[in-house]
Amino acid sequence: MKRESWLRLLKDAIAKLEQWENQWPSHALAAPNKADVEAVLDLVDRLQDNYPFFHPQYAGQMLKPPHPIAWLSYALTALINPNNHALDGGPATAALELEAVAELAGMLGFSTAPGGFLGHLTSSGTIANLEALWVARELRPGRRIAYGANAHYTHARMCRVLGVEGVEVPADKNARLDMGALENILRAEDIGTVVVTLGTTGLGALDPLQEVVLLARRYGFRVHVDAAYGGFFSLLARREPPLVDPVPFDALAEADSVVIDPHKHGLQPYGCGCVIFRDPRIGSLYRHDSPYTYFTSGDLHLGEISLECSRAGAAAAALWTTLRVLPLQPHGGLGHLLAAGRRAALAWAQAITQEENLHLAVEPETDILCFFPMPSAGKHRASTISTWSDAVFKKTMARGADGLYLAKIKLERKFLEKQDVDIEWDIDRLTALRSVLMKPEHEAWQARLHQVLCEVVESVIRQSHYTEN
Ligand SMILES: *Cc1c(COP(=O)(O)O)cnc(C)c1O
Repeated sequence: MKRESWLRLLKDAIAKLEQWENQWPSHALAAPNKADVEAVLDLVDRLQDNYPFFHPQYAGQMLKPPHPIAWLSYALTALINPNNHALDGGPATAALELEAVAELAGMLGFSTAPGGFLGHLTSSGTIANLEALWVARELRPGRRIAYGANAHYTHARMCRVLGVEGVEVPADKNARLDMGALENILRAEDIGTVVVTLGTTGLGALDPLQEVVLLARRYGFRVHVDAAYGGFFSLLARREPPLVDPVPFDALAEADSVVIDPHKHGLQPYGCGCVIFRDPRIGSLYRHDSPYTYFTSGDLHLGEISLECSRAGAAAAALWTTLRVLPLQPHGGLGHLLAAGRRAALAWAQAITQEENLHLAVEPETDILCFFPMPSAGKHRASTISTWSDAVFKKTMARGADGLYLAKIKLERKFLEKQDVDIEWDIDRLTALRSVLMKPEHEAWQARLHQVLCEVVESVIRQSHYTEN
């Protein structure tokens, strides 16, 4: 770990910030006492109860530390702790937020001309989606919201929060929104909004947004795109040759609203989601009158276009600084980092298809892999495969410094039957393994991780033969 140079930079930056503070009469900060020191060292002990999210051997959930430039900028700004609810709370970070959000909007294909969109940061993708669905409900009162069975679980929950009836659309054999099923639902029910996911949380699938946009013209529903995970992959769609299917991303400019999570692929600490609306006039829906917050400026405050009140100005500062260093470019900047994880997923998927004992559940469309142990000879019970997955999950992790940290996912029988996978279905949901390859280092580590996986799968299947016979 080479944090030393970053800590030096933080120290220099704090020294510069202190020159600004020193305009005011001196204001002493007590040095850490014994209790402070003990508390912090105890925290270090407690923090070790974590999986090694920082390391390429951790290839499980959507987790990794922020880029050093992001935590440094966050820590520095937190010394002031501005609140982006209003210009009174943080004029500098409010400006940084507007600039950073404009860059995200531009990447997603929105017009960045004045009045071309309306957007802001949120504390999470869930809250960002809640805002988009709330706006959808206000503009399509009494009508239902359709979302995929592959969509994030919070869409169903937020529909309940909003008192809107949600309708689940099944997934097709590629784990994308099933367009035939969607059209049947559109014919039968009064759907006001359809949620499309670009980069599903489970399998990283890209719903066919371009086809949904065409249906929207015919049926007149709103299109909300949940790109919390996959939004940044629009950079890879614009590479030559593209590293992900560019077609759904090209349709983003026609979406009514889009959510993207900088705290997932934007290298930010948690607390940074974003929602963007195509029509800035929806800002009037947020209208409220606060007797105690806005008084130093007549300009539109971020708090006037956001459901949340307090939001960390430090989150905006961290994102803004990160984008300076890692611009939203297909080949350089952030695109360069994302491409490595995408290539790792493609290479690992390829390696898995060559293995006798492994089955790739679906071709990866982003950087998420899904597979399960299943010898190609014979027909196996879903419950046996699930037991193998559980064992592989535990044993790869138990190897510790020599191991691999994966995640698990339940795949529905209905989904795998669409692919004609030959499984004896004694249970309705099969446990599979899932790996999110979101660190660029995964590319260099992929072959080694695959080897660990194969060794463990081999031993798990061999052992289960002994116990069965
Ligand atoms: C992670 C995720 C969410 C939820 O976002 P949070 O930031 O965790 O609240 C919503 N939708 C998708 C597709 C996601 O991947």
